[in-house]
Amino acid sequence: MSRSADVTVKSSELFERAQHAIPGGVNSPVRAFSAVGGDPRFIASATGCTLTDVDGNDYVDLVSSWGPMILGHAHPAVVEAVQRAAAGGLSFGAPTESEVELAEEIIDRVDPVARVRLVNSGTEATMSAIRLARGYTGRPKIIKFSGCYHGHVDALLADAGSGVATLGLPTSPGVTGAAAHDTLVLAYNDLKAVAKAFEEFGDQIAAVITEAAAGNMGAIAPVDGFNAGLRELTRRHGALLIIDEVMTGFRVSPAGWFGLEGVGADLYTFGKVMSGGLPAAAFGGRADVMERLAPTGPVYQAGTLSGNPVAVAAGLATLRTADAAVYSALDANADRLAGLLTDALRTAGVAHRVQKAGNLLSVFFTTDEAADTRIIDYAGVKATQTWRFAPFFHALLDAGVYPPPSAFEAWFVSAALDEDAFTRIADALPAAARAAATAPTP
Ligand code: PLP
Repeated sequence: MSRSADVTVKSSELFERAQHAIPGGVNSPVRAFSAVGGDPRFIASATGCTLTDVDGNDYVDLVSSWGPMILGHAHPAVVEAVQRAAAGGLSFGAPTESEVELAEEIIDRVDPVARVRLVNSGTEATMSAIRLARGYTGRPKIIKFSGCYHGHVDALLADAGSGVATLGLPTSPGVTGAAAHDTLVLAYNDLKAVAKAFEEFGDQIAAVITEAAAGNMGAIAPVDGFNAGLRELTRRHGALLIIDEVMTGFRVSPAGWFGLEGVGADLYTFGKVMSGGLPAAAFGGRADVMERLAPTGPVYQAGTLSGNPVAVAAGLATLRTADAAVYSALDANADRLAGLLTDALRTAGVAHRVQKAGNLLSVFFTTDEAADTRIIDYAGVKATQTWRFAPFFHALLDAGVYPPPSAFEAWFVSAALDEDAFTRIADALPAAARAAATAPTP
């Protein structure tokens, strides 16, 4: 791996140009570096665990395209599958064998899933799952949790994580009161609040939607019994449980968070890893619920490019290449990164917590370092010293390490991180930790 240069002229020129053509110069807000300042790097190519920008700088990638790239970039098996699929035609608007294979692959891995419908993004998956839950139950309301992000679905943007948290937005203009009216927003990991909401609105609640483990306000695993409690409460009140595994699915284990915890939901949403880096996602679950979808049922859902053969080929190749060794490497790399972060921040005297949810991890700058507690909700995340993050981030970036450009996002390792990458991370961390230590209090 070549050393990172500090010249970013071409990225800055492109960013300037982009802002005249694309709002904010980016096609997804967190890419703009708004929360950390400076100009985003424009990426020219990527291979393995390395991103190369348009100025020729290399970075160790700790974002992995926000999750999908568990094998690293341009993995030969995935590239070959994509090339083969593309050569056979890009889109048919008719069923293909490979779509069935991808649906079967998901069904084989996640026990409670009996039927799968492929869509194009995680947003579409959650939007469709909510519509289906409302159509199936005949009820209007849904419960979501503060700091959880389920894509930019109108009804789910209230108090959301990811870019909504990074930009500090309570919700989004353009979402009408009517669209948000039936969304009840509760604190994550607060089962008592869920029980109370069911007491009050029980017969109106169609579904509870939750991230399998929260990853969009930083990595926050559910407390023991939270997901199981949601299962119990939804069942008791005739509502559906939707577990959003867009981020965790096929990353934290071959069967996602379900493979770690085993709590069964009525519906699941998937994306990211199952698409291998191309636009594909899915929702799936109980046969009797999924069969309510058109054409077997009345709940309408469709897509010109759904099950696109090239995206499906990338997803299948990724899932089939990700053997036990890949999952061991993902876990080991996350542990090793967490250890390096902890050592450097301790040495620099920066109060912090490195939290993990499976192999997702986050650094929270907090003086509450007690071993028997951890941050469990969005209020806890918002109370951290987020101002330490920008200097920490930029010191890493300048040294050729690319973490997520927001204190509210999880870090995503790939199995492709190698010794060179870890050496670069270890070399970069002491200065970054000192930058966090000396960050001026706002
Ligand atoms: N659900 C979760 C848990 C996510 O993390 C995301 C995106 O980060 C989404 C849904 C939306 O997926 P997409 O960005 O593909 O629309």
